[in-house]
Amino acid sequence: MSRQKMIAGNWKMNKTASEATELIKGIQAQFTSCPVNHPEVLVCPTFTSLTAAVEAAKDSPMEVGAQNIHWAESGAFTGEISGDMLNEIGVTHVIIGHSERRQYFGETNDTVNKRVKAALAHNLKPVICVGETLEQRESNITKKIIEEQVRVGLTDITADQMADIVIAYEPVWAIGTGKTASKEQAQDVHAFIRGLLNNIYAGTAVAENTRILYGGSMKPKNAKELLDQKDIDGGLIGGAALKPVDFAAIIQAAM
Ligand code: PEP
Repeated sequence: MSRQKMIAGNWKMNKTASEATELIKGIQAQFTSCPVNHPEVLVCPTFTSLTAAVEAAKDSPMEVGAQNIHWAESGAFTGEISGDMLNEIGVTHVIIGHSERRQYFGETNDTVNKRVKAALAHNLKPVICVGETLEQRESNITKKIIEEQVRVGLTDITADQMADIVIAYEPVWAIGTGKTASKEQAQDVHAFIRGLLNNIYAGTAVAENTRILYGGSMKPKNAKELLDQKDIDGGLIGGAALKPVDFAAIIQAAM
């Protein structure tokens, strides 16, 4: 089976609502038509720009996702957002467990799992981020860390539910640093994650069907060689997703 490629933009804490509209229009303007063999394209603005982004994207194949979701339905969780709130806006996806959430806001593998369950319960498709720090890579524990992140993040998630889940491998040392994992380094971890899925969901097509995106300083100049790797099914893009020409070039590289 061939997995449809996906190019997702993580806008982080950038772009007001009006700037989000402008950026989406700018990306759309790079394409005169939607090629048959196009990748799935997702943009993930900050909460306050989601409504404007959904409106701006509505007549195009572009999808809009959020950058977080809380597991509770409502309540005393200052600064968090619920599934119902995201449903009412009309987003389709949610990024969960980004390394910046893990690094600065106390996200753990357990809270990732709770958020994944909340997203699925609200028909939102999780984009689950995993990745090792530089220190972990240098200590040769990359695969141990990734395995823990994947196994705990997917606790109690069924094979059927996996159809709605995307995994993003993002080495922390490559995010926003201009340092990209080599295609060999990235492919090696992607193949490892696919092997893990094969082990967790033995006897099903989950490993074969799940898309695993690469993230970490993906740019127009290195996108193609990464996207050509057997187990790399797309990209989660930070910096380059804020530039219409660069984001469009990465989409082109995935065609
Ligand atoms: C990210 O934040 O998910 C990311 C990959 O950022 P960048 O492309 O800027 O490294």
